[in-house]
Amino acid sequence: MGRIYDVVIVGGGPGGYTAALYAARAGLDTLVLEKLSAGGQMALSEQIDNYPGFEEGIDGFTLGERMRRGAEKFGAQTKIAEVLGASLGGRVKELETSEGRYLARTVVIATGATARPLGAAGEADLVGRGIHYCAACDGMAYRGKTVAVVGGGNSAAADALQLSRIAKKVILIHRRDHLRATKIYHEPLMNAANVEFRWNCVVSELLHGDRLTGLRLQDVHTGAETELLCDGAFISVGRIPATGLFQEELNLNDAGYLQADESTRTNLRGVFAVGDVRAKALHQIVTAVADGAVAIHYAEEVLAEDSRPESL
Ligand SMILES: Cc1cc2nc3c(=O)[nH]c(=O)nc-3n(C[C@H](O)[C@H](O)[C@H](O)COP(=O)(O)OP(=O)(O)OC[C@H]3O[C@@H](n4cnc5c(N)ncnc54)[C@H](O)[C@@H]3O)c2cc1C
Repeated sequence: MGRIYDVVIVGGGPGGYTAALYAARAGLDTLVLEKLSAGGQMALSEQIDNYPGFEEGIDGFTLGERMRRGAEKFGAQTKIAEVLGASLGGRVKELETSEGRYLARTVVIATGATARPLGAAGEADLVGRGIHYCAACDGMAYRGKTVAVVGGGNSAAADALQLSRIAKKVILIHRRDHLRATKIYHEPLMNAANVEFRWNCVVSELLHGDRLTGLRLQDVHTGAETELLCDGAFISVGRIPATGLFQEELNLNDAGYLQADESTRTNLRGVFAVGDVRAKALHQIVTAVADGAVAIHYAEEVLAEDSRPESL
């Protein structure tokens, strides 16, 4: 058997590199497996204003690089490799990657999630130029402007409510005639003077020049089309957690997120789920980094138990 790391972390976003920082500082032999580059989703953001300690804000790529360097300073290693398969049930966990096989006593899964796109033509090119997937992240750019929110679940309703406190006008577009969101959002949304609803509508086209200028909407019953002018649109039609690799061994909720409580412990001993991949109320950088620290606290417990003479 080859080298067995104390902790292997799958994913080099903020959750993964915080786990790496805490593990390395605890003197653990620590490896991060990242398929692309440090920073994860936040590397896509030009301006992060809600991560404490940066009064001028910071761009996500730089923050990701700083998190990586901070963890590596204390001895964590990074291998650019995509994890393609995992066997996590045994005491020694195995990870098959594009660069070979890695073994670990504990594994932290920090593979994140991606926003589900609308699937409209030109959408990818307009990301950050009128098309957004996170109101908490990008909403402030729309102070005094008109924005659309597409979706009808809790996150769409929460996004619409949050944007109603920033934007001049918010138009919520939903393909049904009522929200799926829980009742706590209904009343404040209905009472908000600057929130309008377009029920039974889907987005059939993104209107744009260099950036988004509006949406073409189609009535799902009549097929009639209308144009809606707006400065930005927040797409909130769900997220796709990167959990496909782990679905055979780990418990997922109905939406595909890994089930682990605030301890980040999954159903398998020595396997932890941190950040956006874990089922929880708020998926943000601060909650991902908190998870990363907590996971190592419990990983240390597992490693300590396993190193007792009676368990060897
Ligand atoms: C455009 C944008 C702007 C945002 N702005 C903000 C903001 O301003 N404030 C805020 O708090 N939050 C923001 N967020 C949300 C925030 O980025 C996420 O909550 C956070 O990055 C989650 O961290 P994570 O470590 O759990 O996962 P991620 O950041 O998703 O990182 C997961 C990492 O795992 C890697 N990975 C996945 N699968 C594999 C595999 N099989 N093998 C190896 N590596 C793998 C990925 O390449 C990725 O690097 C934003 C998100 C986006 C998309």
